[in-house]
Amino acid sequence: MLFDLHTHSKYSIDALSKPETMLKICKKNNWGISITDHDNMNVYSRGNVKKIAKKLDVFLIPGEEIRVLENNGGDSKCVGEIIVYFLKEEIKPSTFKDILVEIKKQDALLSCPHPFDWPRKNFKDFKNNWKEFNSMEVYNARAYYAGLNKKSQFFFNTIFKEKKISALGVSDAHTPEEIGNGLTDISANNEEEFRRAIKKGNTKIIINNKAKIWHHIQTQLARKNMIKER
Ligand SMILES: [Zn+2]
Repeated sequence: MLFDLHTHSKYSIDALSKPETMLKICKKNNWGISITDHDNMNVYSRGNVKKIAKKLDVFLIPGEEIRVLENNGGDSKCVGEIIVYFLKEEIKPSTFKDILVEIKKQDALLSCPHPFDWPRKNFKDFKNNWKEFNSMEVYNARAYYAGLNKKSQFFFNTIFKEKKISALGVSDAHTPEEIGNGLTDISANNEEEFRRAIKKGNTKIIINNKAKIWHHIQTQLARKNMIKER
């Protein structure tokens, strides 16, 4: 089954997609999805998304994209972002160490979004901590230039020989039209099979498209509430 494992709904400050629209797109294409909003899981608690997914029979994986902070001080610097799957409860931005404790407690899976994409909050310490991760993005459709994804592919090829980790292709969609730009083929029909495949590194990336400049502009307009959700 094909999955888009990095997408944003209107519950992200910079995204426009209504959860219903997102799930309808997945239903139409027979894709599984994870909605991974920035620093919150409101789409799961308030967005009614689990109910819609059940009704439409869409494979939905609860997720969140979380900012990693340098230390736990109030105005601490962000040192990148990570993505977590199968979270039961939202995790607030904090240090990598604290996030890891929470992930273990919740038996969740850890992924590294856009690992070398320095213009877009890549997790700077990924190279030293990759063994903690279950998966990493090898294709992110929002990368500004191809070299950033190529670097991910190269790093993946190097580490995969040492320890199995899964390669993901994702859209990082902030608008409905972007969903499916990058996908991951995983042979899984339920949570257990999905977890097993990810842990064994049994995934294949599918590259469909890259985000257009217009999609990036919409992210900026969404931040200023200057464009309608759809
Ligand atoms: Zn994202």
